[in-house]
Amino acid sequence: MLRDRELLESHGNRQRIFIRGCRRTSVIMPSFPIENKHLLDIQPIRLAHQAVDKPLVSIVWLKRDFRLHDHAPFHHAASNGAVLPLWVIEPDWWQSADMDSTHFNFALESARELRSRLREIGSDLLLQFGDILEIFSQLQQSFTIRELLSHEETGGDWTFQRDKRVVRWCRQNGITWKEYRQDGVIRRLKNRDGWAENWQRWADTRLLPAPRQLTLPEPLRTVEAKAENEQRWRTVDATIAPISQLQKGGEEQAHDSLATFLNERGANYRRGMSSPLTANENCSRLSPYIAWGCINVRQIYQAVMQTKAIRGADKQWQSSLVSYRSRLSWHCHFMQKLEDEPSLEFQNLCRAYDGLRENDFSEERFQAWCDGRTGYPMIDACMRALREHRWINFRMRAMLVSFASYDLWLHWRKPALFLARHFLDYEPGIHYPQIQMQSGVTGINTIRIYSPEKQGKDQDPTGDFVRRYVPELRQVPTALIWNPSKLTRDEQVRYGCEIGRDYPFPIVDHAQAIREAKAKIYEIRQTGEAREKAVEVAKRHGSRKRRDVFPKPRTHQQLLLPGFDALPPES
Ligand SMILES: Cc1cc2nc3c(=O)[nH]c(=O)nc-3n(C[C@H](O)[C@H](O)[C@H](O)COP(=O)(O)OP(=O)(O)OC[C@H]3O[C@@H](n4cnc5c(N)ncnc54)[C@H](O)[C@@H]3O)c2cc1C
Repeated sequence: MLRDRELLESHGNRQRIFIRGCRRTSVIMPSFPIENKHLLDIQPIRLAHQAVDKPLVSIVWLKRDFRLHDHAPFHHAASNGAVLPLWVIEPDWWQSADMDSTHFNFALESARELRSRLREIGSDLLLQFGDILEIFSQLQQSFTIRELLSHEETGGDWTFQRDKRVVRWCRQNGITWKEYRQDGVIRRLKNRDGWAENWQRWADTRLLPAPRQLTLPEPLRTVEAKAENEQRWRTVDATIAPISQLQKGGEEQAHDSLATFLNERGANYRRGMSSPLTANENCSRLSPYIAWGCINVRQIYQAVMQTKAIRGADKQWQSSLVSYRSRLSWHCHFMQKLEDEPSLEFQNLCRAYDGLRENDFSEERFQAWCDGRTGYPMIDACMRALREHRWINFRMRAMLVSFASYDLWLHWRKPALFLARHFLDYEPGIHYPQIQMQSGVTGINTIRIYSPEKQGKDQDPTGDFVRRYVPELRQVPTALIWNPSKLTRDEQVRYGCEIGRDYPFPIVDHAQAIREAKAKIYEIRQTGEAREKAVEVAKRHGSRKRRDVFPKPRTHQQLLLPGFDALPPES
């Protein structure tokens, strides 16, 4: 990992902007509350108790797993004496370039709900701030740590490096750290053979019940310790103002969403998933809950299979549930890629594409894309909708990245960070492989270039979605809304939108931009080096289901080039 970063740095100044450490630019700086230093002033807990005879405790370290059901660390710790449930707010992580205050808000809501459930079963959630090793060391002064329990995490580089420090600390202090699997991802996987069967076994495994009771260690049961913990929670609560239009965090909310999806909303999943007008309602909207561990993929899978059995011969439900079930395994399939190759957060999966776009990065184009001011109504509407709701459906995500990559010819790293901050469901293991796939740098996937106009006409046939998010165009009739720059002077006056003043001219010419993009990509893709590297990537990361070296085009929109297609690219 470190070696990869050194390599990036050695590629010169242009590359530097894509690596951590030099990560902020003024336009996309998140307004994270920790930056006001409010939380940073809070001191770590100082337990009065620093006895020689320290109580024995198992620490359950909550990371991105805010639930009680099917939670292996809680389940195993419950039968083994006193348990200290711990959530540490790590300021350095929260200020990383891919994190945003909305993520923090969601995590906090989820943690708060978990805390109230823990209190119902005689426990609590100890809240701490600061560097994880300092917190562990402090706790060690008051407790004999029997073992540390957590879930395995396939996160970004920050948490990966943090976990390596924790491994070293545990070793030095003679503490066992037990990490439990929380999804279908396999640690230290040698190759992909048999991966799908392994996933199926994991998904079919019986769910673990929530613990009925957890015993807090004595020093945390005192009135003073409880009051101190309470005070800490209040301080954090006071720091964050809930954002009403976003999904709320928590295990209960996760199960509510699953229930409404399987009882009602999911019937139209297959038909409704592609349009931003319907996807909002017809997709499960479980992604942030999975990302923050309020529910896991196995719990969802088992509920889906039960519903499938109940729905019997209902064709609409059956086809929706079959589509949905495959996406649950895609979730883990994609995460496995980052688990196996953490460097793909920073560098191209297929290194033959290194240098393809890096030296052409235009801040001006990037800024227009971030602001939803490209002059392409469907792109701008999707970007503005995303900024408002912190969620957009798969197809529109793919279209946004396609536009950034092919039309604007932006290297994927900065758009990836921008989107990471704007996806409430940001999951590094899905995000980076998807971004690379939609940018055409994996070497193994069909190149997909989306036409904003066609997507607009197909997915928003009445233009209502565009009108809702691009109010400058609200009076423009549907027939004219996809090409506002073609409005005559009279029409601009009639519809109250002067092009160039109220709404921008198209930032690039789509047809010409993608012609040039295709030529550049094809030049690389046909080289022997690209083919050789693509074979290596396919061996390492490709699904074992299909192995078409020359897959057939599915739609006229696809530019088909030799290579593997690891997964059905469509959602
Ligand atoms: C550029 C790009 C970036 C993405 N980044 C993320 C991300 O950071 N986090 C994230 O959860 N999803 C990401 N996705 C995948 C997908 O868009 C979201 O999972 C989905 O839109 C979430 O909404 P939902 O829960 O209603 O999905 P549903 O359609 O209801 O699907 C249910 C679950 O299946 C999984 N899933 C669905 N589609 C995919 C897919 N194509 N690949 C992998 N898993 C999938 C997700 O866990 C999702 O929650 C990304 C897609 C693209 C094109």
